[in-house]
Amino acid sequence: MKDDKATQLEEMEEELRNLEASPLHEYRKENDYQPVLGEGDLDADVMLVGEAPGAEEARTGRPFVGRAGRVLDTLLQSIGLDREDVYITNVVKDRPPGNRDPRAEEIALYAPFLRRQIDIVQPNVIATLGRFAMTFVLREYDAPLHSQKIGDLHGEVIHADAPHGELLIVPLYHPAAAFYNPGLEDAIQEDFQVLKQVLTRDRG
Ligand code: URA
Repeated sequence: MKDDKATQLEEMEEELRNLEASPLHEYRKENDYQPVLGEGDLDADVMLVGEAPGAEEARTGRPFVGRAGRVLDTLLQSIGLDREDVYITNVVKDRPPGNRDPRAEEIALYAPFLRRQIDIVQPNVIATLGRFAMTFVLREYDAPLHSQKIGDLHGEVIHADAPHGELLIVPLYHPAAAFYNPGLEDAIQEDFQVLKQVLTRDRG
């Protein structure tokens, strides 16, 4: 029999496909794009949450398979993980035109999908990729903050309470920052080492 988690996610995928209320639905249809729900280990300790699919993701229906995805794969490998070991998703599930920033109403419309994914996977750790995911997840869990800025919060380990238990949130720079802002490369790599330590502690 099919795993209950997989069935719930398949149902969500179908809902997403039919989400005509989304301002991004027409753009998806016009370009023959797919919605991108997420993929990976449904029992993963860590969920990675990015911003929104790019062109390659929308063409394939899979998260982080373009240029930023290749950087992400390398960063995961640097801490001994493959993408199959984690669950990867985004705040917004359809590609915004020309990779523009997601709008507040789009984030609000797709938020219930991300909430349900977190309920299903029940990760102990959420690593956010970029400022949109960071802001969404920290607000979602009312995390106590000394700043709102990714430049201040990246690589920190923030404790929060989720309905399924204690949750550690680790804000990371978006992997695309590595090619838009090469000066951040060292920080991006060091932040993944923080994630590694958190996961080692979590398992130990
Ligand atoms: N950037 C994201 O934020 N998500 C993806 O899936 C791909 C690129």
